[in-house]
Amino acid sequence: MNLMLFGAPGAGKGTQAKYLIERYNIPQIATGDILRAAIVNKTAMGMEAKEYMDAGKLVPDSTIIGIIQDRLAQSDCKEGFILDGFPRTLAQAQALDFLMEKMGIKLDKVISLNVPDELIVGRISGRRVCVKCGASFHVEFNPEKVEGVCDYCDGELIVRKDDNAQTVKSRLEAYHAQTAPLLDFYSDKGILSTLDGTKDVAAVTSDMFALLA
Ligand code: ADP
Ligand code: ADP
Ligand code: ZN
Repeated sequence: MNLMLFGAPGAGKGTQAKYLIERYNIPQIATGDILRAAIVNKTAMGMEAKEYMDAGKLVPDSTIIGIIQDRLAQSDCKEGFILDGFPRTLAQAQALDFLMEKMGIKLDKVISLNVPDELIVGRISGRRVCVKCGASFHVEFNPEKVEGVCDYCDGELIVRKDDNAQTVKSRLEAYHAQTAPLLDFYSDKGILSTLDGTKDVAAVTSDMFALLA
């Protein structure tokens, strides 16, 4: 099962990915999480990416494609994977096609979570993420069980540096200009399904499982 979660920043991709991992026992590949780990480890790639991320801009395609190439080659991807936050440009989507073709695998489904911009700001400003596993919670819409502690791994919950009103604006601009056009790319391949991402977390999860059944 090779899946892709698609949608604007804050649409709920990471939140839904956790339920797919539980059900299908396949890894989530979130380029944002991989980049944040590189920043924590102060690698050269992380230091370069940080400038783009703090400004709410996309990290260059060459960096991202390199990350995905390495990640898909790891053995835990053999039974499938969930792409989250990748691809974000046409060049990335084409590189993914090329890589998957070389590996002899195919994308089964692209699940797009549709959430209008007006709702995104509220979602991102209330987001709290786990420093250890990257899980997302929301102070109002999806609170953790014990305040400040991740439900999944007991890691500490923090506010991401780029989750501020100014950066959200640039991230939404980047999404509409560079990422949203990919909806046509996957629709043309006949593998795109769109879900109403404005429903509550549990309702979106159940719509998503119905789609995959
Ligand atoms: P969100 O889903 O809230 O936008 P992510 O964690 O997916 O957050 O991404 C955070 C930042 O990391 C993005 O704003 C961008 O700078 C960078 N990034 C993540 N994935 C990609 C990608 N596939 N291409 C380019 N930049 C990326
Ligand atoms: P993405 O990975 O697409 O950037 P997240 O999964 O991190 O988005 O979700 C963004 C924020 O919105 C988080 O604070 C999350 O808890 C919250 N959220 C996710 N899904 C929903 C939903 N269906 N309704 C309300 N809030 C949600
Ligand atoms: Zn965690």
